[in-house]
Amino acid sequence: KVVVVGSANMDLVGLAEKLPRPGETVLGDDFVMTPGGKGANQAIAAARAGGTTTFLGAIGSDSFGVTLSSRLASTGVDTSQVRTSYGSSGVAVIMVDRAGENSILVSPGANRTFLDLTDDERARVAEADVLLCQQEIPMGTVAAALAAARESGTRTILNAAPARELPPGLLDQVDLLVVNETEAQTITGGSAADLAALLALVPRVVLTLSGDGSRYADRDGRDVHVPAFSVEVVDTTAAGDAFCGALAVAWAEGRELLDAVRWANAAGAAAVRKIGASNALPSRAEIEAIFAG
Ligand code: ADP
Repeated sequence: KVVVVGSANMDLVGLAEKLPRPGETVLGDDFVMTPGGKGANQAIAAARAGGTTTFLGAIGSDSFGVTLSSRLASTGVDTSQVRTSYGSSGVAVIMVDRAGENSILVSPGANRTFLDLTDDERARVAEADVLLCQQEIPMGTVAAALAAARESGTRTILNAAPARELPPGLLDQVDLLVVNETEAQTITGGSAADLAALLALVPRVVLTLSGDGSRYADRDGRDVHVPAFSVEVVDTTAAGDAFCGALAVAWAEGRELLDAVRWANAAGAAAVRKIGASNALPSRAEIEAIFAG
């Protein structure tokens, strides 16, 4: 069982020849609206990867909230504890130009109201094998979820994305940290990903390296580069979310961590073959096909 505590946003994506400058209006091309937010994406990724998955988060009382929760539920995510708060859902307004350059405004909406955990939410965390968190909700809530997991023996994964300053002591509650190079630098303050410095803070680290796969290191002295699966790259959006969701599922199923990281690499590779975010997240069969090589 996997519990994901995090954000849910509606992604409003508008395509245009060029991005508007401040004060300018441009006539665009296509528009697509897709469920997103790192929390919801990783919950969908975990459910698609075959995990029994619960999402804990907050949606608004608007039509986006209805769409977000029905999308999660139709993927098989347990949404029975999702909060509805009066007002807007989280929204990401994304503009993309022909060159693939983008401008993004994230309006957190209901995600900002997700403060602390209720007793029911704590019970869900306690009964899970693995808790998976990101950093798109108030950090006090992340800390509360990690602490609840620690109390009950639920293993914890923190995907430290998006990069932001962490409250003191937060990493003490993390069993496995998943970061890309930028996020690693934000945590240690260096100019390159410093795994030794990260291992001083958490017992296990996975560094994701895009097309180079990932690197796993732990305090038992293991430091292993896990190569990427070679696929045709169409759109790298959501590779990280696919990776984290699959990693949580594999670890919850009791797989050895290095094997779980390799399986998560297959999930990340599967996601880059398709356009889009949550709709590009691979099924278990797609992951297995790539994993088998
Ligand atoms: P993020 O988007 O969070 O920075 P990455 O870009 O590192 O995450 O991607 C996460 C994982 O997805 C990588 O560790 C890798 O396993 C897989 N992946 C990403 N890009 C590719 C690619 N071009 N080819 C194969 N696998 C990829």
